[in-house]
Amino acid sequence: MRAFILVVLLAVSLFGCSGGPRQPVAGHMPTAGIEPQEGYVSWSKAIHRGIGPDGRRDYKEAMYDDCMANSDSSDCSVSGRGWFVRWGSWPSIVQPKNRTDLESIAVRRAIMVLNRSLPEDKRFRIDWEWVSELATLEGLSKENLHAHTEQLFSSGHIHAEIYGYESGDFAGFGGTDGARGYAVLDESEFDLSNPWGLRSAVDSMVHELLHALGFMGHPHPVHTSILSYRHHSEGELDSLPLVDMAVLYDMYGWGHWSETMKRVVDTVDGVQFGVHNLNDGTVLIPWVDAGYMAPSPPDALLGWASYEGKLNGYVASGFPAHGDTRLRVNFDTGYGSAQFDKIHARYGDTWNMWNRLGFRYDLNLYAHYFDSRTDPRDRDGIPDVVGAFYGFDGEVAAGTLQRPEITAAFGAERD
Ligand SMILES: [Zn+2]
Repeated sequence: MRAFILVVLLAVSLFGCSGGPRQPVAGHMPTAGIEPQEGYVSWSKAIHRGIGPDGRRDYKEAMYDDCMANSDSSDCSVSGRGWFVRWGSWPSIVQPKNRTDLESIAVRRAIMVLNRSLPEDKRFRIDWEWVSELATLEGLSKENLHAHTEQLFSSGHIHAEIYGYESGDFAGFGGTDGARGYAVLDESEFDLSNPWGLRSAVDSMVHELLHALGFMGHPHPVHTSILSYRHHSEGELDSLPLVDMAVLYDMYGWGHWSETMKRVVDTVDGVQFGVHNLNDGTVLIPWVDAGYMAPSPPDALLGWASYEGKLNGYVASGFPAHGDTRLRVNFDTGYGSAQFDKIHARYGDTWNMWNRLGFRYDLNLYAHYFDSRTDPRDRDGIPDVVGAFYGFDGEVAAGTLQRPEITAAFGAERD
């Protein structure tokens, strides 16, 4: 009880995120210079401290400093009740069912970004069927919310919602006591009907969800972190940054990351994708890393488009796999399809055909995002296919494919 009050107070001072709606700024980080070779991330070396031991240590020290600076607490160094608060048992994310479609889409996209980076048994379901009775926080001020946390939030859940509150300096905030948590944004700060506004809300919700998963501070801006205000306000992001993933995995003991972890890597037009293989293959994490890119402007995402490219990953038996990827999408209707076929797996030294016909999915598009959530074969609440369109001309489509038989990432170039 007492510990929880402390965290809530911290939340007031630490978790405010003043990154409101962002413009498609010219100052975004270019992605040029990505080198596709296995196991070495040259671009990240140049702009942050990396995900090796030194980079992760620096990140954690900054979180500690931030905690100390904001809380006058001597508890900051204590993992569990300090700058990091570990959940006792892994939570679910819930949101009230009566939010607008756009608000639900923004929260859903943020969860998908997280899911792409989590071990399979830690991914969050995004079907809302069972949360219809959950009360909205609408009308509650931040102070109200903090004063009644135990009544408002149920144990085992992170309450995620975009609603109206008097935000002051805070466009959003998030936190946890390790048993319940919240990640909220002020709806007046985000124009969700605008693709950039939506994207900004997704980024901000990912930021707040990381607070809700236990991060109580912000790392130095030198890290390419979604928790870093500098990058948060300058960049546009569709994947959880590697350094955030690496520290999250450290703190939950899910597996050790290093700079040589990109076991399977490929690149299409500067967008890297691949599958991390942790703990001798017991944890596979598909990822897409576009760095900080400008979003595609709306007029690049009109009419029909088709994409051709590659798929890389591992089949369930643990062998590396590669195949072809084709997407055909209609940006005007918001529907499309993805085909992954001619999939080969490597047994020993030879590549053999593993699945010639492969897998086909119906896709739903929203702005620069797509996923397979309404495909009739994909109704478990966690879409098998999740991705986004990248670049000023929408010239790259990249994402992840996660099925029982295969864990893979793909990248494809517009025809
Ligand atoms: Zn924050």
